[in-house]
Amino acid sequence: MTVAAYTVSLFLRIAKIDLITYNANNINILIAFDLINSVSLRLLQNQSINLPCIMKKFDIPNYYRSSFISTIKELRKVTDPRKKDFSPTLLDFGSVQFLIARHFGFCYGVENAIEIAYKAVEENPGKNIYLLSQMIHNPIVNDDLKEKGIQFIMDTEGNHFISWDELTKEDVVIIPAFGTTIAIEKRLTDLGIEIQKYNTTCPFVERVWKQSEKLGGTEHTIIIHGKHNHEETRATFSHSDKNAPSIVIKDINEALILEQIILGEKSAEDFETIFSGRHSDNFDIEKHLTKIGVVNQTTMLATETQEIADFLKETMIKKYGEANYKNHFADTRDTLCYATNDNQQATIGLLKEDADLAIVVGGYNSSNTSHIVELCEEKLPTYFINSAKAIEDNTTLNHFDFHNKQSLTNKDYLPKKEDVTRIILTSGASCPDTIVDEVLDKLLSYFDTTIVKESIIEKLEAEKNT
Ligand code: SF4
Repeated sequence: MTVAAYTVSLFLRIAKIDLITYNANNINILIAFDLINSVSLRLLQNQSINLPCIMKKFDIPNYYRSSFISTIKELRKVTDPRKKDFSPTLLDFGSVQFLIARHFGFCYGVENAIEIAYKAVEENPGKNIYLLSQMIHNPIVNDDLKEKGIQFIMDTEGNHFISWDELTKEDVVIIPAFGTTIAIEKRLTDLGIEIQKYNTTCPFVERVWKQSEKLGGTEHTIIIHGKHNHEETRATFSHSDKNAPSIVIKDINEALILEQIILGEKSAEDFETIFSGRHSDNFDIEKHLTKIGVVNQTTMLATETQEIADFLKETMIKKYGEANYKNHFADTRDTLCYATNDNQQATIGLLKEDADLAIVVGGYNSSNTSHIVELCEEKLPTYFINSAKAIEDNTTLNHFDFHNKQSLTNKDYLPKKEDVTRIILTSGASCPDTIVDEVLDKLLSYFDTTIVKESIIEKLEAEKNT
């Protein structure tokens, strides 16, 4: 640990803030530091550093937390404080066993956003309180905010429920965890609305904006790997476009098309046909594809992001040669967030175990949850559900096919086994633990078991002490 890191950790101990270490690609990075002050957070999150990772405890409504799941998570923290073990926790109820992912549920950015949104309600009685759009991609959290009186200005695609003209400078506007575009920030500021007080933009999204600023500073065109309609990618594109010509690509197939354009095998018209609405104004394929760098939406699939960066690097090697490619391609690290990395690695850990089916819980428009589903689908029958209500009984379950954006019903989702049924259970970064707990309870009710949750906790406690 460096002297700076030691000083920080000492300060945090005095300030009673939890320290945890996050390790991605062998680089320890800081998760969060805003309890002390946001300047420190912004300074530290930008560094490639060996520092302890600091996780603030957020003040969010208790009904989002489950004491059963919180206890399991706390026990895991004790036995694995450095977050090196991605193996799941086995909850053995006898006739049914659940494999619970090492990491799942609310991330830093989501808890931060929830805390700020509920604080906005508490601090502004009688005022109009608006959210630009869904605060996070979880219907239960968004519905609860609506019940508390928060109104949504737009849907996730940017279609207005409330026009800008209806807003006044006395109103409160909350910016969601995904951040927003520069145009919307300006619109609100022009209306006289204070936009920083309840700005919940996740620091890990801002990190992507900073990375694109750096790339723009070295005259790289910015290739954003993301879903162009997703709020976060729209915000990132807007901030990136301010710094350099930018383009959004969604997957490796589009990287392949981009290669053909870079190598002169496709024309400017082809470029326009495919990437229309997803590139900066006046994008010139001759000028703007000679020096490129890649950033990502924070919640993409890590393996795909790596594949795209490696592929585009090879493209520049093809065009300019091994000796020169560094002048044309910025060899930077991905900009996925810690929660995406942790949850995907924990899912890979889950899939090393044998199981009969996987249940993944989360909002159907949640990007990070859909990637967990994608990973599970490769190995076993997987059902993407948004709450326990999706489970009708021990035979019928309603789930979501995110590939085709359709709801499906399965009438035979539980295997008919004489011996033990094993269920993988996990969730995305925007799903409250209480929902996962309700799903577990519902599934448990279909099995003949006398083992109760308290005994499971006692067993895990005993294992911790051995
Ligand atoms: S998933 Fe990552 S980027 Fe998104 S809110 Fe959570 S920590 Fe922030």
